[in-house]
Amino acid sequence: MPEPLFPALAEASAREAIRFDDQVLTYRDLAGVAGRVATRVAGAARVAVWATNTPHTCVAVLGALLAGVAAVPVNPKIGERELAHIVADSEPALVLAEPGVALPSGLAGLPRVDVDLAAPAGPPPPPAAEPDPETPAFVVYTSGTTGPPKGVVLPRRAITSNLDALATAWEWTEHDVLVHGLPLFHVHGLIIGILGPLRRGGSVRHVGRFSSAAVARELAGPATMMFGVPTMYHRLVADAEADPEIAAAVGRARLLVSGSAALPATDHERIARVTGQRVVERYGMTETLMNVSVRASGDRRPGTVGLPLDGVQVRLVDDAGQTIEASDDETVGEIVVRGPNLFLGYLNRPDATAEAMRDGWFRTGDMATRAPDGYLRIVGRRATDLIKSGGYKIGAGEIENALLDHPGVAEVAVTGEPDPDLGERIVAWVVAAGEQPPAEQDLVDHVARLLAPHKRPRVVRFRDALPRNDMGKVMKRALT
Ligand code: ATP
Ligand code: MG
Repeated sequence: MPEPLFPALAEASAREAIRFDDQVLTYRDLAGVAGRVATRVAGAARVAVWATNTPHTCVAVLGALLAGVAAVPVNPKIGERELAHIVADSEPALVLAEPGVALPSGLAGLPRVDVDLAAPAGPPPPPAAEPDPETPAFVVYTSGTTGPPKGVVLPRRAITSNLDALATAWEWTEHDVLVHGLPLFHVHGLIIGILGPLRRGGSVRHVGRFSSAAVARELAGPATMMFGVPTMYHRLVADAEADPEIAAAVGRARLLVSGSAALPATDHERIARVTGQRVVERYGMTETLMNVSVRASGDRRPGTVGLPLDGVQVRLVDDAGQTIEASDDETVGEIVVRGPNLFLGYLNRPDATAEAMRDGWFRTGDMATRAPDGYLRIVGRRATDLIKSGGYKIGAGEIENALLDHPGVAEVAVTGEPDPDLGERIVAWVVAAGEQPPAEQDLVDHVARLLAPHKRPRVVRFRDALPRNDMGKVMKRALT
C-alpha cells in the first residue's frame, strides 16, 4: 500500500498541529474533524474549498485528501468572472466552507458542506485505504500573472516527493514551528505552508493577514521558520529597522524562506544587515511545486535560488530547446524541469499541456543563468521579462535590481515595448521613495553605470503604485 500523506495524523497525538489566533487543533483533533469531512466528500471527483485564512480551510483540504478526492481551493476575494470560469472548468461536486460564511452567487448552485471544528464523539473513523500516488490531490489555479489562470492537476506523488525534498533541503523536522501569513489558495500558502508542517509532524501558526508585529510575536516565541513572499520581507525589514524588538525576534529564526517572486538583492542585504538573517530563496510554480532552493546549510547568496532539489532535474535550454552547457552568469536559458514533482496536466487544456511539455520536460517559461557551482539566478519570465533590444537579450530582473539600489526608488517594474530602432525599448515603471521623484536622467545614468549602457531604460514612467495580484506579484500586463 502507498505510504500515507500524513503519518502524524494516523498517530492522532495530542501535539499542536495548527493554530489560528486562539483556535488550536491537535493532530488528534485534526484526525477527527478531517475524518468527518472525508466521509462527507467520499466518492466525489473534485470538491471546491472556500479558502479563507481559517482552520476550516485546512480541515476541508485534509478531509478531501484523506478521501482521495481532489480539492479545488478558491480565493475568497475572487471576482465573479474568474469564479464562473473555475466552477465551469473544475465542476466541483460540492463546496466546503466555514459555517455561517456567505458564499458568492457563483457557488450557489453547488451543495454546501459546512466544516465543523467541534471534535466528533468517539474515535476518528479509520482512514480509508491510501489512494494510488497518481490520484489527483488538487486542482490549483495559477496566479494569472501572465494570462487567465489555468487549472493545474497535482497528483499525490508530487506533494509527498516535494515536501520530503524540501524537508531535506531546509533540515525541516517535527520540532519546527512555522509562522505563516500567506493566503491558502495557492501552492505556497496551502501545500508548502500548511501541508508541509503536517507531513513533518510539526506545527504551523497562521497570523491571518500578514503583519510584521504578528510575525515578530511568533518568532519571539515558539516559531522557528517563516515562509513569505518578497513584499512581506520588504515590509518586515522596514519595520525591523524602526523597531529593535522586531529585528531581534526575526534574528532568532532558524530559517526564513522567500519565494513566489524574486527577492530583490537589496532587500536580502538589508535584512542581513538589520536582523543578521540571510533569507533562503527557493523557486517553484503551481505546475511543478518547488524545483530549486538554497540549502539551509548552503551559501545564501543574494539574487540566487540555489540548487535543484533532490530528485528534480533542471536544465537550461536555448530557443531551439538545445541544452545550454555554459556555466557562467551571462548565458541566459529557459528553465526546463523533470521529476516526481511535476503535475499531471492542465485541466481540460490538453493543448496547453502539450505546449508546455517537450520530451517529458516541463517548460517553465522562466529564464535563468547558472553559475559554475550550479547556483541558478532567475532573470525573469520569457513572456514578459525578456527584452530584445538592439540585438541584445536583456532580463528585466537585473535592471529592476539595479534601480532598487537607487535611493529614490521604492518599487519598480521593467518592461519592453516596441521600438522602431531597437526592436524593443526598455521602460521602467517607478514608484518614487520620497515626495520628490528622482530625476529621470539620474535613474538612466545609474543603470548605465551599474550594468551596461545598453541596459539603461529609454523611458521612465512614475506611478503611485504598481498593479499586484494577491501574492504581491506585479501584473506586468496591467501596466499602462
Ligand atoms: P500564471 O501562470 O497564471 O501567469 P504565475 O506563473 O504567477 O501565474 P504561479 O504558478 O503561482 O503563477 O507562479 C509561478 C511563477 O512565479 C514562476 O514561474 C516564476 O516566474 C515566479 N517565481 C516563483 N518563485 C520565484 C523566485 N524565487 N524568483 C523569481 N520568480 C519566482
Ligand atoms: Mg505560470
